[in-house]
Amino acid sequence: MAAVGANTQLNPLENAERQFEEAAARLGLNAGVKEMLKRPRRATIQSLPVMMDDGTIRVFTGYRVQHSIARGPAKGGIRFHQDVTLEEVEALASWMTWKCAVADIPFGGGKGGIRVDPRTLSRSEVERLTRRYAADLSDLFGPERDVPAPDVNTGEREMAWFVDTYSMHERRTEYAVVTGKPLEVGGSAGRREATGRGVMICIEQVCRHLGMPLRGARVAVQGFGNVGGVSADLLARECGAKIVAASDVSGAIHNPEGLDVTALLKWVTDKKGVAGFPGGKALTTPIIEYDCDILVPAALENQITGENAANVKAKIIGEGANGPTTPDADKILDARGVWVIPDILCNAGGVTVSYFEWVQNRMGFYWPETEVNSRLREKMEKAFSDVLKRALAEKCSLRVAAYIVAIERVLKVHELRGMYA
Ligand code: NAD
Repeated sequence: MAAVGANTQLNPLENAERQFEEAAARLGLNAGVKEMLKRPRRATIQSLPVMMDDGTIRVFTGYRVQHSIARGPAKGGIRFHQDVTLEEVEALASWMTWKCAVADIPFGGGKGGIRVDPRTLSRSEVERLTRRYAADLSDLFGPERDVPAPDVNTGEREMAWFVDTYSMHERRTEYAVVTGKPLEVGGSAGRREATGRGVMICIEQVCRHLGMPLRGARVAVQGFGNVGGVSADLLARECGAKIVAASDVSGAIHNPEGLDVTALLKWVTDKKGVAGFPGGKALTTPIIEYDCDILVPAALENQITGENAANVKAKIIGEGANGPTTPDADKILDARGVWVIPDILCNAGGVTVSYFEWVQNRMGFYWPETEVNSRLREKMEKAFSDVLKRALAEKCSLRVAAYIVAIERVLKVHELRGMYA
């Protein structure tokens, strides 16, 4: 995955807490229960000394946060980014708890990160750093304890190193310790496309509810990496939507007649960015404000804010990224009647197929892609319908409804298991 730059003026942990508080208030949770649900179960900070290629030693800072292990092992990716902070990892870990609960898969929430710009390291330096991190936390990780996955700037390659390091320590091969692995190393068919496929399914469901045809609908996609690229491809190929604008770190392009997504994906692979794509023109205005029916933010946090939310033209926002909309923006969009499909629902396809990968690893029996996709559709449609029903009943946004559904599910497990003290 490519490195991306978030708006660091807005603190994702504060945003995550404000989102939680709004739903918690509607549920009438008391202060102690709120504190229990809000605070991470465990947070670690590591110093990771790594030998550089030139023989010098650099010490990196790593984090792993287990926000909740109530419904199952902690689950969540590992991000390599120069701006990673403990607060950001805490926010991302809590979103994983709520996402796994909305998707109704038996995991808690976790997240990890290393404060590093991996573009400044060689391949073997990244490998040593990944292995150091995996080895250092090998007591914390495990198929029944904490199961990482890729996130920004990590992918199949790092997950394969992770499996290898953990397996060496365990003295046996253990694939179920991470998900998002290469197919040859215990990966699942359909995992690479899963997040984008989930985004597509959620957008289909909102359109169905609104009676709005998706065929021919104009879609703008911010971020053309794994999530944005696949979402665009599937929305165009499987639903007949028209992708009219796309952006990434290289720039933004548009074509009101519709971009040829297959050609654009190939261009991005070859040229490492959307900029210069001959089938479109350079877009000089912000893509968030582009004239379209559906907007898919699929880059990083804090892209739709109190400053630009009033200028959003889209009627539907499908949050491919985690935390792309701030609580201030949510208020503005809600008042304007924009349908925001929240991240903890919209991008839950990735962790759902991660769950399938973990199940397949534990069974030692692998499903064909058609089976993965149909099980994913079933899970996503159920999650969407649970959230929509709740939103209509509570007369609230899909985001608040998703939090309500998630908090209730986690709370129920706490109630049944009781308090061990
Ligand atoms: P990625 O690195 O593959 O892609 C990110 C894309 O965003 C790249 O095209 C990058 O160039 C672009 N980008 C960065 N800054 C931008 C900016 N300011 N404007 C426009 N584009 C910009 O990462 P990804 O896996 O696609 O993840 C994207 C988001 O989706 C992240 O928030 C991630 O946490 C979230 N997410 C990913 C998955 C998954 O399965 N990959 C699952 C759930 C959520």
